[in-house]
Amino acid sequence: MKEISVPGHVRRMRLEERVCPVCGQAFPGTKRQRYCGASCERRAYYARHADELKARHHERYHQQKGQPAGEAPPGPRQNQVDCRAQTV
Ligand SMILES: [Zn+2]
Repeated sequence: MKEISVPGHVRRMRLEERVCPVCGQAFPGTKRQRYCGASCERRAYYARHADELKARHHERYHQQKGQPAGEAPPGPRQNQVDCRAQTV
C-alpha cells in the first residue's frame, strides 16, 4: 500500500486503489468500498446468495412436480380466456 501525503481534511477519506472482484476493474475507493459501483455490488450479492436462491427455486420446482399427475389444478389464465370468450 502506498502512503500518499494529502491535506488533513481529505485524509479522513483516503482513497486507495481497489480492484472490483466482480468486473476486475481498478477503481479508487475507500476501505469500506469493495465494488466499483452499485451494479457490481448487486451482482456480487446475487453471486453470494446463488445457492440459496437456487435452492428456493428448486424447492418450488419439486412442489409442482410432486403433485399427482391426474389432478391438474385449473390455472387462472384459462379462466381469463373463458371469460373473454363469453364476453365476445
Ligand atoms: Zn465492478
